[in-house]
Amino acid sequence: MIDWEKMIEQAKKVCRPRELSQNACAASVAAAIVTDQGNIYTGVCIDTPCSMGFCAEHAAAAAMITAGENRIAGVVAVHKKDDGGFEVIPPCGRCREFICQLHDDNHLAQVKLNDRVVTMDELLPFRW
Ligand SMILES: [Zn+2]
Repeated sequence: MIDWEKMIEQAKKVCRPRELSQNACAASVAAAIVTDQGNIYTGVCIDTPCSMGFCAEHAAAAAMITAGENRIAGVVAVHKKDDGGFEVIPPCGRCREFICQLHDDNHLAQVKLNDRVVTMDELLPFRW
């Protein structure tokens, strides 16, 4: 059973939007991934021109891989809104595909949406 409140709190902790340079900003979105071993990894988006940046889920997955794990049990992403509040947002199409390719069972990973929990399979049906 995934503790979604804990996952959301972990993501919120690193969701601190900031300018990095004249061209780059980061952390308007943060993600938390929990693995089948129960470890939580977080990451933030990095936005740059020329499509060189990446999503928060991508960064969290990289931290997970760096630590030696690749089986994802659940993932959630939060976006910090202009009013200072947070909203849960689903992973983009690229991150859905990316996560599914990191482990043969990651298509079974749970994804926390704003009002429900679904599987990656439900977000990315009819995989190639
Ligand atoms: Zn993405």
